[in-house]
Amino acid sequence: MSRYWSALVGQLDPYVPGEQPKIANLVKLNTNEHPLGPSPKALAAISAAVNDSLRLYPDPSSDGLRSAIARHHKVDVSCVFVGNGSDEVLAHIFLGLLRQSHGPLRFPDISYSFYPVYCGLYGIDSETVPLDDAFRIRPSDYVDSARPAGGIILPNPNAPTGVALTREQIAEIARANTQAVVVVDEAYVDFGAESSVPLTQSMPNVLTVHTLSKSRSLAGLRVGYAIGPAELIDGLQRVKNSFNSYPIDRLAEAGATAAMDDEAYFAEACAFVIAQREVVTAGLIERDFDVLPSKANFVFARHLKTDGASIAAFLRAQGVLVRHFNKPRIADFLRITVGSEAQNAALLAALDRLPK
Ligand SMILES: *Cc1c(COP(=O)(O)O)cnc(C)c1O
Repeated sequence: MSRYWSALVGQLDPYVPGEQPKIANLVKLNTNEHPLGPSPKALAAISAAVNDSLRLYPDPSSDGLRSAIARHHKVDVSCVFVGNGSDEVLAHIFLGLLRQSHGPLRFPDISYSFYPVYCGLYGIDSETVPLDDAFRIRPSDYVDSARPAGGIILPNPNAPTGVALTREQIAEIARANTQAVVVVDEAYVDFGAESSVPLTQSMPNVLTVHTLSKSRSLAGLRVGYAIGPAELIDGLQRVKNSFNSYPIDRLAEAGATAAMDDEAYFAEACAFVIAQREVVTAGLIERDFDVLPSKANFVFARHLKTDGASIAAFLRAQGVLVRHFNKPRIADFLRITVGSEAQNAALLAALDRLPK
C-alpha cells in the first residue's frame, strides 16, 4: 500500500501465473509450454534479425506477420490483429469490445483465471455461468437468458478442463447473442478441437483469439492474435494505437512470421503432443485417476483416493511440477501439461511412488 497509488491499484486482484522455477532439473508440467522447441526456421529468422536494424522501430502494424497469419487461416489481412501475447490481445478486447453497459460479460465459472482480473482492471460487470456436473460448458446456458449478455468469452478447449465444444455449439451461442461479441479463446485449439475461425467470416459477432505460446512453442517470444470481422479488428487497432504503437518487436515479428509459415513443423509438433496426451491419459487411468476428455496439451485429472493438494505437494517433492488450483469444485484436480516422452515417463514413475 502507498498513498501514491491511484484508488484502483489497491483494489486490483492480479493474476498469478504458474511457477517458473529457478531450480534446474525439475520436470516442468505446470504452465502448458510445448515440450519440443520452436520451429528451427523461426530460430534462424530471429538470429538473422539480430543486427543493426534493431536501432529502428519495428513496423507498427506488423504487416508481415499479419499476412503470414492471414495465409495460414485463409482470411483477409484486415481480419487479423496481433499483440504482445494473447493476454495483451485479450486485454484490448476486454476494454474495446466487452466493456458494455447493456449487459454483463458472461464466462464459465471454471475458466481462464485472467478473465476476472481484466474485469477488475477495466471495471467490467461480469457473471459466471457454472459448468455442468461433467465439467462441460452447456451452450443452452448462454442462449436463454432473461438478461442479455453485454459480451461472452470462453476458452475452447476450456482451460483448465481441456474439454472442447464443437464449432456448431459456438455458432449456436453466437446466433442467440447478436447483441454481444462472442470471444473464443483458442489457446489450445490446435491440439484437436474445431476452430471457430470460419465462423468469423460469416458472423459479425464472433472473434477468435490464438497464441503462439502453446502450439508454436514460442511462449518466450510473446505473440498472440485475434481473427474476426474487419470492423471488430478496426476497433482493436484503435485501442492498441492508444496504448502502445509497437507491441511486436523486430525479433518477435521475424520469429513469429517464420513460425506461422512453417506448416510442416507445426503439424508434426501438434501430432507429437496429441499422441503423448493419449500415453499420459492411459497412464493416469491405470494409476487410479479420473481424467477429463482433453483436446488440449494438458489433462485435468483427479485421483480417486488422494486429494489434489497432497498429490501436487508429493509430486513437487519428487521433482515434478504440475498445476493445482485451490478453488471450489476443482480443488481435487491437477492440471498436468503433456511433456516430452521422458517427462511423461518421469511423471508416471513418480506417481508409482505415491504412498497407498
Ligand atoms: C496460455 C493462455 C493464454 C495466454 O497466452 P499468451 O499468448 O502466452 O499470453 C490465453 N488464454 C488461455 C486460455 C491460455 O491458456
